[in-house]
Parts: sequence; structure tokens; C-alpha cells
Amino acid sequence: MGLRTMYSLGLIVFLSLLCAQLFSASTGILCSIFLLVLYVCYQSWNQYRLLKALKQDDLIGHHRGFGIWYDIFSLLDKKSKEWRQEVLRSEIEYKRFIQAVQASPNGLVMLDEDDQIEWCNSVCKEHFRLDPLRDARQPITFLLRHPDFVHYMHEANFSESLHLDFMGVNGNLMLLLQIFPYGENRKLLLSQDITILKRNEAIRQDFVANVSHELRTPLTVLNGFLETLRELPLTEAERKRYLLMMSSQSSRMLSLVEELLILTRLDNSPVSPKTAVVKVTELIQRIVEDGKSLSNGRHIIRLSMISSRNILGAENEIFSAFGNLLTNAIRYTPEGGTIQVYWEDLPDGGAIYSVRDTGIGIAPEHIPRLTERFYRVDRSRSRDTGGTGLGLAIVKHVAIRHAAQLNIESTLGVGSVFSMAFNKDRLASMDNPTVNIN
Ligand code: ADP
Repeated sequence: MGLRTMYSLGLIVFLSLLCAQLFSASTGILCSIFLLVLYVCYQSWNQYRLLKALKQDDLIGHHRGFGIWYDIFSLLDKKSKEWRQEVLRSEIEYKRFIQAVQASPNGLVMLDEDDQIEWCNSVCKEHFRLDPLRDARQPITFLLRHPDFVHYMHEANFSESLHLDFMGVNGNLMLLLQIFPYGENRKLLLSQDITILKRNEAIRQDFVANVSHELRTPLTVLNGFLETLRELPLTEAERKRYLLMMSSQSSRMLSLVEELLILTRLDNSPVSPKTAVVKVTELIQRIVEDGKSLSNGRHIIRLSMISSRNILGAENEIFSAFGNLLTNAIRYTPEGGTIQVYWEDLPDGGAIYSVRDTGIGIAPEHIPRLTERFYRVDRSRSRDTGGTGLGLAIVKHVAIRHAAQLNIESTLGVGSVFSMAFNKDRLASMDNPTVNIN
């Protein structure tokens, strides 16, 4: 019995004795009965209140009463506030954890001991079309039925990861999956989208294969010539002819390596700065002069410069891109053809560089692929004219770095127009416009 209960009972006894002393013994007995009934009622009422508060899980803010009940309700009040704060803190931490998991680019599925889905994040919708609410409590192998995955689950050798092709919400995906066992027989399934990684790896492998192939051909030829020079007794004229052919093969390798270096530089350097002013008029004149010496009088080359705008960007890159378009026109236009080079203003304040030829033209199915590295319509024609298959890839890169639009229009057997349109914020303010037609 607690001290407070003893005090209360003592008080009842004292008051009953006082009544008996002041009035009579029977009054004292009546007083004690009345006080005891009152005491029992008060206890029962508080017990009822306590039970109700516990049942309803509503422990805060009750009238605290007196005596032991004051202590009980005060303690409950205090504990209950602490619990609520604890729960609130846990809820916040849980929400943060869920937010962190949802922010992950990887799919995450929590499986129970029967391999049923307990929870999954939203990435799983993209990867496996799983829905956290709809698919909860479903066995994972009912929903991911890929035979390799079912086998992986069955084998339970989770130290290895698994590469799988899946039809995701946004198309075909290459996924890397791994199961991590945790807790009591539970599992965590992690999925990582490696589609881009795989694609880049394939591009890299293609690229290495292409470069090796491009270098192997001239190297084989060079090797053959070297053997001939070493082993056969040749006349001076024959020796000169072989050396000339060898020099053409080594030039081919040199231009391939040079173009590869240009592409690497373009790949690795940040977007071309707007600060340098490229004097387009002078640059195009130089390019046309070079073009004329390459053509060696086999084509009619005309220059029409109706704009005097300058480009904000990198001069070597513009020179390389503009030069490539003219060189291609010369290489793919038969003797006697006409090539026109334009630098003109556009109505929206921009300017356009274009090269129009009356050459062999390109069939429509090839046009979308021309800017791919090493893509050629006619491999032998490209090689015979000293092509590397990288020219238009460089042009496209330069166009992107200068926010320019590369356009290709062509009709097979009629000719082509390659153009680069620069928008006005990539152009320097106007000098004195001049018309310059050669
Ligand atoms: P290449 O070194 O082979 O010329 P490019 O990247 O410069 O490589 O061009 C890719 C392909 O586009 C060429 O192989 C050629 O088939 C085609 N091509 C480019 N310019 C022209 C043009 N003016 N006329 C016809 N075909 C062209």
C-alpha cells in the first residue's frame, strides 16, 4: 500500500474519531462509512478514467486529480509527451530515408522471407513496371518472370550480379541486378540502368575497331612496298613511283591521326567561348583559295559573300568546319562541276555559310547518318580522294559548339547543299557590309 493511500485512510480514521468525540460514537461510525464510500467512489472514478485514457491512447491533458492519481496522471502526461516526440522524430527520419531512397537512380525492392515484395521505390516502375501499392505482397518471381532472373533467385548465389534486358516503361533497358540478403531471411533487390553505359562501350569498341581498320589498310600497303623495295631490283623510275605511293599512304595515315586529334580536342574542351571574333570574310577567302588549289582547275568555284558578319567563337574550329564542307564538295563533284560558297545574312538576324555543288549527290537514306564517325556512302571513293570518314563528324561537333544548325540537302546525281546557320547571338556586331562576288 502506498504512502498516499495510508495518509488518506489515516485522515478518514482521524475525521471519524473526531466526529465520535465531538458528537457521538454512532455519528463517528456513520462519518467513517460515508468517507470510505466517498474514497472508494473516487478511486473507482479515477480507475475508470485511467482505463479509458489507456484504451483511447489519449493520455495527454487529463484532469490530474488528487493524491496518487495526481502522480499517475502527471507521469502518464510526461511519458506520453516523450513518446509522441519520439514517434514524431522517427516519422521524420523515416520520411527522410524514404526520400533518399526515392532520389536514388537505382531501383530498390525489399523482399520478405518468402520473396514477396514488401516495398519498392518509384524507379522500379521504370525498370520493372512494379507498383509499390498494387504489387505489395506479390512473390517477386510472379512479376519478374525473366527466366534468367527466376534461375538467379532459385540458385540463390547472390555474390554475383545479373545482366538482363528488360522492356521498361520508356523502352528497352539493359539492367544490372543484384540481391543483397539482410536481416532475418530478407532480401534487397538492387537494379541499375546500364543502357547508356553499354551503348557507350559499344560505341567505343566500334570506334577502336574502325580506327584500327583505317590504319591497317595503309600500313599493309606500306609494308608491301617496303618489302618490294627491299627484295626486288628496281629501276630508278620504279623506285620513285613506289616512294610516291608510300608517301600517299603515310599522308593518309597522318590526316586520319590529325582528324582524330581534332575530334578528341573537340570532345574534351568546353563549349566554344564567345569572346574571340572570327573574321569570317578573310577566313572564307583563305578557304576558297585552298579549295581552288585542291581542285586544280577541275571545277568552277564561285564565292558569294553577302554578309560581313563575324562569328564569336574559335577560329581554328570554324576554319576546319568550313574547309571540310568545301573540300568534300570538291572531292564529290566530278570534273567540270560547279561549286558555290555563300556567306549570307538570315532574316532573323543570323547568318548562314553554305556550299552548293553539282556533284554526285547523296541518297536520302544516308543523309541522317553522314555525321557519324567513319560513315561513308561510298567507301572506296572516299578513300581514293583522301577521305577519313571523320570530316562531317568534326563539322557537326563544331556546329554544336557554336550553337549553329548543320543542314544537308542533296539529290542523288544532281548535287548537294551543306550549310551551317549561326544565330544572331553567336555573331559579332556588323562591320561595314560589303558585297564580294568572285
Ligand atoms: P569522308 O572523309 O569520307 O569524305 P566525311 O565525314 O567528310 O568523310 O563525309 C562522310 C560521307 O558523306 C562521305 O564519305 C561521302 O559519302 C558523303 N559526302 C560528304 N560530302 C559530300 C558531298 N558534297 N557530296 C556527296 N557526298 C558527300
